[in-house]
Amino acid sequence: MPSYKVKLKYKREIAEGTMAFHFEKPAGFVYKAGQFADCTLINPAETDAEGNTRAFSLASAPYEDDLMVATRMRDTAFKRVLKTMEPGTEVTLDAPHGAFTLHNNASVPAVFLTGGIGVTPVRSIILQAIHYKLSHRILVFYSNRKPEDAAFLNDLMESHDTNPNYTFVGTMTQMEKSSRKWHGETGVISRAMLLKFIDDLTLPIYYIDGPPAMVNAMRQILNEAGVDDDIRTEEFSGY
Ligand SMILES: Cc1cc2nc3c(=O)[nH]c(=O)nc-3n(C[C@H](O)[C@H](O)[C@H](O)COP(=O)(O)OP(=O)(O)OC[C@H]3O[C@@H](n4cnc5c(N)ncnc54)[C@H](O)[C@@H]3O)c2cc1C
Repeated sequence: MPSYKVKLKYKREIAEGTMAFHFEKPAGFVYKAGQFADCTLINPAETDAEGNTRAFSLASAPYEDDLMVATRMRDTAFKRVLKTMEPGTEVTLDAPHGAFTLHNNASVPAVFLTGGIGVTPVRSIILQAIHYKLSHRILVFYSNRKPEDAAFLNDLMESHDTNPNYTFVGTMTQMEKSSRKWHGETGVISRAMLLKFIDDLTLPIYYIDGPPAMVNAMRQILNEAGVDDDIRTEEFSGY
């Protein structure tokens, strides 16, 4: 697998405790929307038992100029170094990896079930599909505790307004802790919520990604609804 040294361009806060890091895309770096990179810090100021490498989905869409990853800024050596990294600093990306990518047959709908920082590959896939005007019917169910926590909420909601093939369903599970207004769904993603937007649950291909506990919960809902084969998952181990 090719390995690239990439330079940080800038970083920004995209939700509470969540940052995006934009890197220069090196010549010849080719990837599919939804793939991930192993990101290694070069000579970091500190390290810990988990080491200097983490897997990150590429949240950028391939048509975009930058490579971008996004992460929850927990208090680990890797993330402390990332948080204080100056523009121009290089990291190594071993990429692309993974097969969490949109299927080719546009007549089969795609349903994404995601939560929290699991949204990163979904942003990439949705923006790429919209940019290239793919004709797939696509639904995204995106769960967070509150809007303040929801990375890329605007990116995903705005595309919804201009694309009839694309439906965005955001849901918040702890609105009582939010100071923002929310007009979308509330509560965890459930079979009943899916049925509000999908007539026949057995038709689509499902893409589930996020922390392992969420992936398991979503898989169980689908299995109980009679969906078995058409489920693709990406587990963010480490959460
Ligand atoms: C294919 C793939 C794609 C991924 N994509 C992304 C992505 O786009 N964005 C992203 O953020 N992550 C992604 N991850 C997960 C990522 O690789 C890291 O595992 C994750 O960010 C945790 O790193 P860390 O430095 O915070 O914790 P680590 O130092 O790696 O610690 C991991 C272990 O310590 C525990 N731990 C550490 N700190 C805390 C804490 N504060 N509270 C509770 N438990 C803690 C964890 O539960 C875990 O058991 C992906 C993983 C995979 C496999």
